[in-house]
This record gives sequence, structure tokens and C-alpha cells, in this order.
Amino acid sequence: MKKEYKQCNRCKSKQSKTSPPGFYKSIEVRNGVEYPIVKECLCHKNWRLETEAINNFVRNGFDPDMFDINLSNGDYVGVKSIGNITRLSKYIDNFFEDEKVRASLLFFYGPPDTQIKETVNWIGNKLIRKYEVHFVDFSTLFDKFIHSLWNPDGSKNADPEINYIIDKYSNCDLLIIGNFNINTNGKYTLYSDKQLGLFERFLKERILNNKGIIFCSLNSYTTLPNNLKDLISDKIKKRNTEFVFTDIVNDIPEELF
Ligand SMILES: [Zn+2]
Repeated sequence: MKKEYKQCNRCKSKQSKTSPPGFYKSIEVRNGVEYPIVKECLCHKNWRLETEAINNFVRNGFDPDMFDINLSNGDYVGVKSIGNITRLSKYIDNFFEDEKVRASLLFFYGPPDTQIKETVNWIGNKLIRKYEVHFVDFSTLFDKFIHSLWNPDGSKNADPEINYIIDKYSNCDLLIIGNFNINTNGKYTLYSDKQLGLFERFLKERILNNKGIIFCSLNSYTTLPNNLKDLISDKIKKRNTEFVFTDIVNDIPEELF
């Protein structure tokens, strides 16, 4: 996904032997005195910022193959849930302006292949240029969180790497949690009440600190275990921020004529 740097004609013609491609010598006047300086051409600056954004995107858990996806610009497939994309475009725009929007809890659900993954990568790409946004699968987050509390021998964990990453997940501007499939068929099979109670503490801290979360799940939040449902339901109801995704990407015919 790394993009090659292409030098523009403007700086190519100005380039000297001693400055690298994308940079050229120029003169800056300060208080009437001319100083020789090396300038970075806009073509190089744009490439550098784009490269930084890609590196950031990958480092923070997003899918490099989805870096270029733009759902508000024709990449969304289908019509049934396209209203979500229209609304989420506004969410992205307002995220920059409004702290209430930044503190929102969003809940996305739908069967596999309904473009939820594409949607969160698109949102991540837009917001990561200004905010700290992380994507993590629930099982990974949960394991790391539990690990950050205790070592297998029961002692308090002091693994700096685990603490560092949990700190990021706790404090970043937006945390996107994938595969948040805790409750299916009314049975909690994987996690004990005690574990879920601890995880509730993690979510509660983010919510109290007005940090946004996007949950991605196969099922509605109404099917979550009670403690987690109670924690998020008021906010989701108040802002109407549950989004159901129903356009299964491979089921939609691609009409060529
Ligand atoms: Zn240039």
C-alpha cells in the first residue's frame, strides 16, 4: 500500500545536486536580509503526510488494503443501508467540530460481509489524520486488558508493553472494537460474569472521560449481557446511534449493462 514518491516538474526543474528530490534551494528574506534556505516542495509534503497517515493507519490496527476506500464517494455497494453512510459522513465531519460527537457511542451490527469492516476503515482513515483512533478486535482487547490486570500467577502485571497498549486503548480519541460478539443465542459462552464485570470497568472509564467508541457486532446491542447493555443503551438511544448493515456485498449483482 506504500505509495511511491513522484517528483513534480516544478521542483524537478529547480533541483540542485546537493538537495534531495522534493527539496530545492530558495531565498528567504527576514528583516530585509536574504537567507539561503532549502524548501520542501508541496508535492513532497503531500506525499510525506500521506505516507505518515498510512503508517499510522496500519500501526493503529486498520487494514492497509482498505486505506483508499471512500464509501461516501461510490465505494459502498448496495442501497438498503446506504443511509448509514450518509449519516456517518456527517458524523465524520462533525467529529472535528463537536466534542459531543467525539464522545458518541456507535453500535454497528449486521451479518458477515455487510461492509462494516469497510465502514470502520473508512472512518478511521478520515479521522486518523487529526485524532488518535485505534481499531482492535474484542478478543484481543479483552485478553490484553485482563493480562494488564493480572499475571497468570495472580500478581499485578507490570508488563510495560501490555500497559502501554492498554493505555492507548483507554485514552485514544476513538476506539473501534471489532467482533464484539459477546452474546449469541442468549448464551454467554466465552466470558464469565466476573470477567465481563472487569471489562465493564474499562468501558465505563472511557465513557466517563467522554471518549468515543464504535462497536461492531453480528447482533444488536439489545442482546448484550445486562451490565454492558445498561452501560451503553441510554447514550445509544438518545442519539439514535445503532446502525444495522444489511447489504451483503457478494449477493449484490454487479450490472455491467
Ligand atoms: Zn515538487
